[in-house]
Amino acid sequence: MVRHSPAGEYFHNIFNTVRTILIGMRISLKYCFAKTVTLQYPDRAPAIQPRYRGFHFYEIEKCIACDMCAKSCPVDCIYIDKTGPRKVDKETGVAVGGAMTRYAIDYSKCMFCALCTDPCPTHCIHMGNIHDMSGYDRESMIVEFTELAKQGLQTPRPLWMQKAHPPGWVEARSQEWLGFEHSDDKLTGDQEARRKAMLKALEATEMPKKPKKEKKEAAKEEQ
Ligand code: SF4
Ligand code: SF4
Repeated sequence: MVRHSPAGEYFHNIFNTVRTILIGMRISLKYCFAKTVTLQYPDRAPAIQPRYRGFHFYEIEKCIACDMCAKSCPVDCIYIDKTGPRKVDKETGVAVGGAMTRYAIDYSKCMFCALCTDPCPTHCIHMGNIHDMSGYDRESMIVEFTELAKQGLQTPRPLWMQKAHPPGWVEARSQEWLGFEHSDDKLTGDQEARRKAMLKALEATEMPKKPKKEKKEAAKEEQ
């Protein structure tokens, strides 16, 4: 390390200060003269990258309320309630059994880490492509997905999108959500069937009975 006299150190500090300011200003100046790109949001849809982790997209009709997502959440911000056990009916790809009484996420705590999506056995919780949510208090940051399901929605919509005449891309994106292309259930593309299944998830339905043959085989295996 080079030692300076007190006067030398004084001038050395001045030199370093000026040098670091110039380095910073060089970067700023480069952008001052660069071509600006202004996206007229919300009139124009923002470009969202495919792996973007936005507000969740939740398929209530496939949820078996197993709590795996809630248990894997590092900040405990997922709340789930049901009236009884649920399981996916293999014939329809839709969950049946007890009613989903609550599936909520507190976005004032969520850190968009996506850890809740991986352990889901029915692949019904995904990171969505909505990046924008506003509210007037903390309570409005808690999204009740069961309430959204009553309106046929699978992801929260920002307040401005709920106005009377949102831009055209909003409606197009809402339609995309309903025919969720990455969904592996049998309802993909059939929006009316999906809406019905979403409403059905809010009511208790009968579980399909196991065929007797399967029951006997299961009993044998247990022995
Ligand atoms: S979203 Fe998936 S992991 Fe979470 S309760 Fe529903 S089925 Fe289980
Ligand atoms: S994204 Fe992370 S913090 Fe948010 S609900 Fe999922 S696990 Fe919890």
